[in-house]
Amino acid sequence: MDIFAAYHREIVAAAAGIAALLLFLRALWAKHRTNRRIRFDMVSVLPAIERMLEGDYRDLLRWLRRVARRYPDETRAFVLIADMLRREGSPLKATFLLRTLLYRNPLAELERAEILLSLGRAYRALGDDEKALTALKQSLAAAKRRETLLELDEIERGKGLFEDALFHRREMNSLAGADPDEGSLGIMLEAAEHALAEQNGEEAQKWLERAARREGDRPLGKILSAAAALCAGDIPRATDLSSACVDRWPEEETTLRYLFLHLPGGTEVLRTVPGPLAAVFLALFDDQKPLASHERERVEKNTLVYYYLSAQAAPPGEMRDLMAAIGRHDRMFACRACGNSLWGTVFACPVCGLPLAVKWKTL
Ligand SMILES: [Zn+2]
Repeated sequence: MDIFAAYHREIVAAAAGIAALLLFLRALWAKHRTNRRIRFDMVSVLPAIERMLEGDYRDLLRWLRRVARRYPDETRAFVLIADMLRREGSPLKATFLLRTLLYRNPLAELERAEILLSLGRAYRALGDDEKALTALKQSLAAAKRRETLLELDEIERGKGLFEDALFHRREMNSLAGADPDEGSLGIMLEAAEHALAEQNGEEAQKWLERAARREGDRPLGKILSAAAALCAGDIPRATDLSSACVDRWPEEETTLRYLFLHLPGGTEVLRTVPGPLAAVFLALFDDQKPLASHERERVEKNTLVYYYLSAQAAPPGEMRDLMAAIGRHDRMFACRACGNSLWGTVFACPVCGLPLAVKWKTL
């Protein structure tokens, strides 16, 4: 015993040292195990991502389900599962899952916004725009996100809710720090097209006047004012505005005349608006008024309209063949910005989306 008593302090120190070493080794081992686990978790998703890039989402969905089981607090994993269900053609299942998630407590505002955005998209996929709009607006109230505003904008424009679309476009611009009016002209023009398609002249007039005010003292502004006057049935005013516009901006004559050729009652205005192309357009909508050859020479020879006008002046048999080869006069116009064909009553190019600017289509 004496021997131990003599070395008592050393023994205690050695024991403490061994205990500290064991604790250190244990911590080291735990860290090593965690690292291996993290590495395994991270690497285990790679085959699923490879399949996803090939267009097959099933493995990723399985992996997300594992994540959701292991970490049930991770709302984002459930939202992703719902997004995948929607993409894979099961939006109804997605709505069930997302509605259950909304009852979770506590739920951060950002999580709530994510769930409601996904729910809105699922309802949209189901074709239920009303429920989609409600969910998306609730999502917006929880957190303002560009994705939510984009969804709202698309649905509202599709349903003809252009006032709401304008409101949400402004919100989107303010979020991006952009000009608050950016993109609003396009929505107004779309609204006017929609109203005309529904044969609602009064509504079309309202939107055209608004768009004209927005555009101001520029060619498009004046063309839209003239179109608004025509929609209101005021032919003298539409004629005066059109004549003033062609006089001031001769290069816009094709655009203005294209528009009036397609607007209800527009040909009446075209008959009296003076300008170098008056006779050309008169010949387009009135087969009884074929163009004299010297007038035809004003049109460039590589344009479809030149062949159309030549066909009108040709002997009857030849004329029919030529007309058949050229087709309707709707095919004679193209967008000045993107070169694609223009047809029908449009205030903006359906391909590039820019406000109407028309040129003759060339061969
Ligand atoms: Zn275009």
